[in-house]
Amino acid sequence: MGDRRSDFYYFGCWSANHKGHYLHLPGHVFTGRECWNDLPRAWQHELDGHLCPRGPQQIEGLAALHHLDGWTAFAFWDRSADQRPNSNSVFLAFGNFDFQAMRRLFAQQFPNITERFTFELFEVPYREADTFTIQLPMDKQLVPTYSLKPYTVNEIFYSVQGEGLRAGTANIFLRFSGCNLQCKRETEGFDCDTEFTSGRKMTATEIVDTCRQIAPHANAIILTGGEPSLQIDEPLIAALKKVVPFLAIETNGTNPLPSGIDWITVSPKTAEHTLRQKVAHEVKYVRAQHQAIPKPSIEAQHYLISPACQADGSYRRADLQWCVELVKENPKWKLSLQTHKLLNVR
Ligand code: SF4
Repeated sequence: MGDRRSDFYYFGCWSANHKGHYLHLPGHVFTGRECWNDLPRAWQHELDGHLCPRGPQQIEGLAALHHLDGWTAFAFWDRSADQRPNSNSVFLAFGNFDFQAMRRLFAQQFPNITERFTFELFEVPYREADTFTIQLPMDKQLVPTYSLKPYTVNEIFYSVQGEGLRAGTANIFLRFSGCNLQCKRETEGFDCDTEFTSGRKMTATEIVDTCRQIAPHANAIILTGGEPSLQIDEPLIAALKKVVPFLAIETNGTNPLPSGIDWITVSPKTAEHTLRQKVAHEVKYVRAQHQAIPKPSIEAQHYLISPACQADGSYRRADLQWCVELVKENPKWKLSLQTHKLLNVR
């Protein structure tokens, strides 16, 4: 990292009409992409040493930290001055650091200031940070726990994927509560047998800790539900990517997905025109007897037919036979069985 002193750069921060905070250099105001593009030039300004504008009076702070390509942004501000423009500060450092490492590094650099600050991790959506615009709702800033966005999780367990192209692989299943649909035999050809109403609030940190605890050696996580797209966001994706290198998702396709997911399974339950996710690695349709071969609008590498399952996990012979005939007549499609239900494993 070279000379420690030059690893840190200070940028003042201002609030624009109390709508958010935008980085700026003295004499330059950068927002969005423009800011990111100008950063290399900004390094040359060598702003290190300009500490917080109000000096050590800013004794209580919240911190926002985000990892970007090769450097870390670290923002703090005075809680008591939240409503005032120019009360915030952002430090940038070369290298990717986690929150604690960044705190330690900051403490080594600025011991007098650090001991007076209270730092807390504030989740900054990756896309916003990527464009280098840190948007913080002003009315929420005085509530530190706001930084710990809760996700409602039904269960987290480690098992073997039972269906689709990835059947047989070991995965942590991160099952979110809630779904925007209510699949019924009369309309979708099967009754939803997934319990997704219960759940508990967990922060990204708690989810990560639980995953590490139950399967420290796992190399894949499946985001499932309920409907995981109702809750997942890029900060959570980034946090999970620190646990495993491979993230998969099972979604009904009615919501667009954040980036960073390695394997997308869309299982449409609604009319094609309602689907917002238009590409997938595999697309899987549940079919019962007399239901026709689907006409998918999603572009996928693999097209799967999954026979409708009964509430007890069994298959009706008529549904199985019907799906076998569908695949025989339409060889672009493959048959996908829910083997975990047949084997009675989770
Ligand atoms: S989309 Fe999936 S989880 Fe939601 S109701 Fe339908 S089968 Fe159940």
